[in-house]
Amino acid sequence: MVSFAFEPEHVEFAESLKAFAARELLPNYRDRAASTDFPFEAFKQLGDLGVLGIGLPEEFGGTGDDDPVLLGLATEVLAAGDVNVASAPVQIGLVGSQFLHCDRAVQERYLPSLIRGEETVAIALTEPGSGSDASALRTTATKVDGGWVLNGEKTAITWAMNASASLVYARTPGTSRSTGISCFVVPMDSTGVTAHHMLGMGCLPLGWGSIHLDDVFVPDDHLVGEEGRGFHSVMSHFDFSRAALGLLCLGAAQRSLDEAVQYAKDRETFGKPLTEYQGISFLIAEHTTLLEAARWICYRALWLRATGQPHTALASMGKWWPPLVAKDAIEAAMRIHGNLGYAAEFPLQQRYRDVTAYLIADGTSEIQKRIIAGDVFRRGTVNL
Ligand SMILES: Cc1cc2nc3c(=O)[nH]c(=O)nc-3n(C[C@H](O)[C@H](O)[C@H](O)COP(=O)(O)OP(=O)(O)OC[C@H]3O[C@@H](n4cnc5c(N)ncnc54)[C@H](O)[C@@H]3O)c2cc1C
Repeated sequence: MVSFAFEPEHVEFAESLKAFAARELLPNYRDRAASTDFPFEAFKQLGDLGVLGIGLPEEFGGTGDDDPVLLGLATEVLAAGDVNVASAPVQIGLVGSQFLHCDRAVQERYLPSLIRGEETVAIALTEPGSGSDASALRTTATKVDGGWVLNGEKTAITWAMNASASLVYARTPGTSRSTGISCFVVPMDSTGVTAHHMLGMGCLPLGWGSIHLDDVFVPDDHLVGEEGRGFHSVMSHFDFSRAALGLLCLGAAQRSLDEAVQYAKDRETFGKPLTEYQGISFLIAEHTTLLEAARWICYRALWLRATGQPHTALASMGKWWPPLVAKDAIEAAMRIHGNLGYAAEFPLQQRYRDVTAYLIADGTSEIQKRIIAGDVFRRGTVNL
């Protein structure tokens, strides 16, 4: 079987989120996106809707069942309203899946408030000297009585400026590559932790920044999973976040194209609506086709994950191509709007800037293509 259909409850949930995104998120997206204030109010609304606990344990307020397809659907639908707010279920899904390997007291401290949308926890992997080559990281974790002492610098970290804690990846001194990398929950108010804001061309409210760790003590029970297994653990979870981020970009692009369709119907030039011109209608047809194709790559990857089948290559396809397809579709929608597409008072230019982040964040296109090619060379095919 090579396809899937959405369950009726998926469709029902998506419809209610679609209405929420149009009513609560879209009207203020542009203003929120132009500010560096973190949108906790919108996050709490997502918490109330149950979106932030998809796949996380019921005892902490989550939905219980792991459902990557639902997580992707929620992300896609919310992105039509606000690209930045829509990244929350993916980021919390990624963080939450790491917390499942934590000490019980640490889970109780963070999971309920994350799922309610009251707090954020960052993922701090990238360093000034290692991004794509993440296993070359140099931050150290030295064992001491009762815990570890961390030293190093993390950069380009989403939520660095608003997180209560970060999942920090650090290596035991003397180890190399992925061996010896462990993951630690580091409260951001620990002595020796400082965060500095980095401004991007978009995603301003997400509090992108660097984190400096200067002799930071982390107690034993803040180790995530097994010592020395941190790198392998986070890599396996990127397989769902990548396809879900593809859908995030596509949700924003579809909304932009819908706006362009409406504009093309309303706007007249040379005595006829824009829809009468093939130069416009073919543009819409082509981008509609590409969005649809990209969408099904993402859902297929999530469905393969949900059904326990190999999906790493599909997830990488869902990460390199959909953001590109989405960016191009948003640009087409901007051009169809003429000067209004470029105007700061409309959301199109904002979506373009926010979506562009995902050409790089969570692994660049080149790295995804390396993963796909590796699978093709190893297995001969990415199909089942
Ligand atoms: C908006 C945003 C949010 C982010 N959020 C986080 C976060 O929350 N946590 C976190 O840890 N990181 C985060 N990052 C960092 C992100 O994961 C890295 O930027 C990314 O992995 C690339 O690493 P780099 O920037 O060091 O580029 P490099 O690894 O130096 O790559 C530079 C260029 O070379 C290419 N390249 C590198 N190696 C190869 C190769 N072998 N073959 C072909 N091409 C290659 C890359 O594709 C890229 O084009 C974020 C980045 C952005 C932009």
